[in-house]
Amino acid sequence: MTRVVVIGGGIAGVSAAAALGQAGFQVLVLEAEAALGTHASGRSAAMFEENYGNEVIRALNKATGPELKRRGVLSPRGIMMVALDAERAQFEADLDAMGMDELPLEEAHRMVPVLSQDIVRAALHEGAMDIDTDRLLQSFAKEARSTGAELVCGAAVDAISPGQVRAGGAEVQADIVVNAAGAWADQVGQMAGAARTGLQPYRRSMARLPAPGGHDVQGWPMLFGPGESWYAKPDAGGWIVSPADEDPVDPMDAWADDMVLAEGLARYEAHVSVPVSRVETNWAGLRSFVPDRSLVIGKDPDVPGFCWLAGQGGYGFQTCVAAARHLVEVITGQASTLGQSVGERLSPARFGQAKVGV
Ligand SMILES: Cc1cc2nc3c(=O)[nH]c(=O)nc-3n(C[C@H](O)[C@H](O)[C@H](O)COP(=O)(O)OP(=O)(O)OC[C@H]3O[C@@H](n4cnc5c(N)ncnc54)[C@H](O)[C@@H]3O)c2cc1C
Repeated sequence: MTRVVVIGGGIAGVSAAAALGQAGFQVLVLEAEAALGTHASGRSAAMFEENYGNEVIRALNKATGPELKRRGVLSPRGIMMVALDAERAQFEADLDAMGMDELPLEEAHRMVPVLSQDIVRAALHEGAMDIDTDRLLQSFAKEARSTGAELVCGAAVDAISPGQVRAGGAEVQADIVVNAAGAWADQVGQMAGAARTGLQPYRRSMARLPAPGGHDVQGWPMLFGPGESWYAKPDAGGWIVSPADEDPVDPMDAWADDMVLAEGLARYEAHVSVPVSRVETNWAGLRSFVPDRSLVIGKDPDVPGFCWLAGQGGYGFQTCVAAARHLVEVITGQASTLGQSVGERLSPARFGQAKVGV
């Protein structure tokens, strides 16, 4: 039986483990931290928006949505864009790009009673959904285990050689290695002797506030400013606001920068009538992109037996099912369900000369 070692126990690694286990592989997931989903996968905004991301991402979103629905992890949320006078041009651009419907202002105020009277345009996409990300991750973990897969936490991989990987001083057999190491994927690639993809982690911060004005926010849509300048959404009875920051950082256990949060909260405050009185807690996570902002899925062109499942950026949950399925199709030599063109645009081979030296 072919043994696949998956490095990383976030949504990418765990969804891949389930798909690989079902395809008949013997799977071992090695996660450096003490629990699955400690990094980006435990810190997301938990949204499914089919029209978010480039063309390749949208193909993955579209192919993932039905399975998330079948698993019962989606619930209605909707997403509303609101613009001030100075934001009209960006509003128009986003309206087209995200396939949103313009909303009469009275209706926008009715849905979100704390919107500022300075809002001049509003738009809605009702189809955006909340994802129960923890339940999704745990359901993949359970499914993987039911196929015989082992998921081991506290196991940081520090060496990769042909046919084996080393974690915690012990060597384990690996006929195939899947690099699902999130922000650390280029470092893991280098351990195997692969060239870097140019993956860049970007920090994104989040503040949790009390529900504005004491409202029951549970039925409100997610709000965002044109050009993704900030966003806010209900979260477990409270209200989370993100500056939608995108600051390049090294792979790390990320935390929010006070100044970035303060500036983002000010952008949010300009669009609402209730000022921010208190931040209950805050956090940050890393969204890791390669330069073309599509995922990197498939066999490394130079290192036999080494596969990539990286570059999930801001889309790791809403693309996970199709991404994991595509990985299995590539490994087993089947035609991609996503089609050849999308497959090529996901392949690690696409970097060619652009790949940065080993
Ligand atoms: C604030 C924020 C909001 C977001 N909102 C959304 C959203 O609404 N919808 C959406 O779909 N996506 C969203 N995302 C993106 C999504 O969270 C990520 O794309 C996804 O979690 C990435 O999953 P991953 O498994 O690749 O990475 P991670 O969850 O980071 O997992 C990678 C794992 O690899 C492990 N690892 C690294 N090196 C090693 C090693 N050497 N040995 C063993 N283990 C190793 C790490 O410890 C880590 O646990 C958001 C992200 C952030 C930060």
